[in-house]
Amino acid sequence: MSEADARSVAGSLGPRPEPGSRGPGTEPDSRGPGPHRSALRRTLLTGAVAVLVLLVAGAALVATVAQRAAPDTAMVADAPLAEGYTVWERNDDGTPVRFDPCSVIEVVLAPRHAPPGARADLEEALTRIVDATGLDLRLIGSTDEPPSDPRLPYQPERYGERWAPVLVTWARPGDPGVPLRVIDRGVASPVAVGPEGDRTYVTGQVVLNADRDDLRPGFGDRSDAWGATLLHELAHLVGLGHVDDPTELMYTFPGDGEVVLGPGDRAGLAAVGADHGCRDVPPAGPVAVRRPAEARDHHG
Ligand SMILES: [Zn+2]
Repeated sequence: MSEADARSVAGSLGPRPEPGSRGPGTEPDSRGPGPHRSALRRTLLTGAVAVLVLLVAGAALVATVAQRAAPDTAMVADAPLAEGYTVWERNDDGTPVRFDPCSVIEVVLAPRHAPPGARADLEEALTRIVDATGLDLRLIGSTDEPPSDPRLPYQPERYGERWAPVLVTWARPGDPGVPLRVIDRGVASPVAVGPEGDRTYVTGQVVLNADRDDLRPGFGDRSDAWGATLLHELAHLVGLGHVDDPTELMYTFPGDGEVVLGPGDRAGLAAVGADHGCRDVPPAGPVAVRRPAEARDHHG
């Protein structure tokens, strides 16, 4: 049985990660031939994980203006910038890869290393993303699942025989399975499954840097509010990439100012949202996860 290539998109800022160090993807477990083999072959799950790192060091904040003038070109996705947004990946029909708006997209919070106010900030950020997308994102509870890199999208022993919920967790760079560098605020990784060119996001992971004690709870200012980082990472989670426009929350750098979605952010969130109809969600099942070697080149 052939294994579909696991395409992926990846984004990062600042220091270049090692080739292949970002952008884990999924590919199907090998399954034996059987009476439904051709159907299985057609419906083989493949996947990709879009990974994006939001870089903010103290020095980066100071250097924001200079970086605006000469931003790291790292990873900006493939939509015309005239639309004010970019997406990680598009299907063959030209529409963005997105979650199914007709299914509940469950979210769990791992509170172990979370800062004060984390749950309230997550709930507020989810509300804003739901309002802008129409997606049915719901925080359903807490978990002690640790972050992993890459994270398995199917964990029946922990979550039952369904796609795992989206994991939101704070973790410390350097700890096992934590896909963060010391300078990162967070990383978001949606997981897409389905046939090549007809993929659907089914879960994902947002890992936030528990060592960033320079950030504060709430939605006060883009420069230092966890709420801004949560909004930015959740927008990545539902399919958006960076833009080169400091007025948008999907700007390559955190920027500063009021924590509000810009017009391009809103257009992008609408483009991956409920207005475009239901998606067929591939049935949950075991998938192997790997890191595509070409992850950095996909949009680079
Ligand atoms: Zn980002």
